[in-house]
Amino acid sequence: MDSPYDELKRRLCEIQDLEKAHELLYWDQVVMMPPSGAAVRGDVRATVARLAHEKSVDDEIGRLLEQIEPQAEAMPYDSDEASLVRVARRDWEKARKVPTELAAETAKVTADAEDAWAAARQASDFAAFKPWLDRVLELKRRYIECFAPYDDPYDPLLDDFEPGMKTAEVRVVFDRLKQELVPLIAHAANNEQDEFMRGPFAVERQHDLSLELIGRFGFEPVAYRLDTTVHPFCSSLSTQDIRLTTRYSEEELTSLFTAMHECGHGLYEHGISPALERTPLCDGASSALHESQSRLWENVVGRSRPFWRWFFPTVQRAFPDVLGDVEADAFYRAVNRVHPSFIRVDADEATYGLHIIMRFELEQELIAGTLSTADLPEAWNARVEEYLGLEVPDDGLGVLQDVHWSSGGFGYFPTYQLGNVISLQIWERAREALGDVDAQLERGEFGELHQWLRSNVYAHGRKYLPAELLERVVGGPLDPEPYLRYLKSKFGTAVAA
Ligand code: ZN
Repeated sequence: MDSPYDELKRRLCEIQDLEKAHELLYWDQVVMMPPSGAAVRGDVRATVARLAHEKSVDDEIGRLLEQIEPQAEAMPYDSDEASLVRVARRDWEKARKVPTELAAETAKVTADAEDAWAAARQASDFAAFKPWLDRVLELKRRYIECFAPYDDPYDPLLDDFEPGMKTAEVRVVFDRLKQELVPLIAHAANNEQDEFMRGPFAVERQHDLSLELIGRFGFEPVAYRLDTTVHPFCSSLSTQDIRLTTRYSEEELTSLFTAMHECGHGLYEHGISPALERTPLCDGASSALHESQSRLWENVVGRSRPFWRWFFPTVQRAFPDVLGDVEADAFYRAVNRVHPSFIRVDADEATYGLHIIMRFELEQELIAGTLSTADLPEAWNARVEEYLGLEVPDDGLGVLQDVHWSSGGFGYFPTYQLGNVISLQIWERAREALGDVDAQLERGEFGELHQWLRSNVYAHGRKYLPAELLERVVGGPLDPEPYLRYLKSKFGTAVAA
């Protein structure tokens, strides 16, 4: 007979298999499925998700955990076994705190709310979306109450994405960023546009360049695919089967950055220790840690001067008509313009943080009830004016631009900016460890950097809480200073000039 540990692991792997099947159904839906497949696909996904949920709240998991925990506590904290037991306990307790009816109602309402949001955004009509937002908020408040007592009502929402992190910690970091970012942007903003950035750039060549970058960064070709979709994402079906997605437009070269971003997510998943495969440890430590890796490859590496000294000649050869007479340095400046704009997903590296900070603030006020949904558009517009100096022309370019609130993703926004903050904390350590990284980037060599990240961050999967992993890698807690140093040295003078 199997030991209780083997039995627990078998059950956890089964749950994971169902979750991966669910993920594959989603990937297929947005990458491959013919449009008329949508009618049935929703039901198929719902069934698989329900089976996974039922198995994850099973009483038997609790009984097995009780049997195993005394031995697991005697094992080294970072052993795979002790980590699996610890994470399984946490997941099981969390899942059981939310009544099945509430989870089902939330799934149903948010699916409809997302449709309502898409139509409202199209028509730039906040009033049409408001009743849906009220319903989602009501469900979120009920969800929060499942986790009482808490220090801050936002804590349970944040914890879904950043296990163990507190809202108060994030507030301190974001307040510090805000203090520096607002004047930095006012100083560095540059609304000039470079004609050569408008293309045309043939899509097949963009695809080839994307593949070249992903290969250079160290992805094994047999372990990933790159396909096109409307909203790019990265999906991991196993450490050896990573689905990267991107999108192309002939009028811009943002696809190169999208490819590097999703590649960063993919390298994280691909680099998780094979011993953790199929277990709940086979995932990133948190959303912010994940985003730290997409941002590290996309921005810290992919928007750096040494990187473009290496890669620009290749891009130039791909588009000789458009870029033939352009200098590498002019191209570097063009992809680093600080240009305050309305839409978060189009924001540059310097202004991006303020888009997130204002959402984080508004979410807390909505949850606490100090801001009503009726006053939300006005509050949104006031903050865009205060932080970015822009007047929002309509709700489509304002409060209706993101899908997150309709889909119930309150608590997710801050992880994007925490990812930026963490990417620089990790980068400073990598530089210390690797010596002259700039020279390596300038030669198009990414192997040492990739290996360092793999053994220090990726391999551990979800064994540690985000704060524990950060402590191990950088020797301290969340710290906005490396990120601010980076932004100041990059945008303080050089790029604005
Ligand atoms: Zn990302």
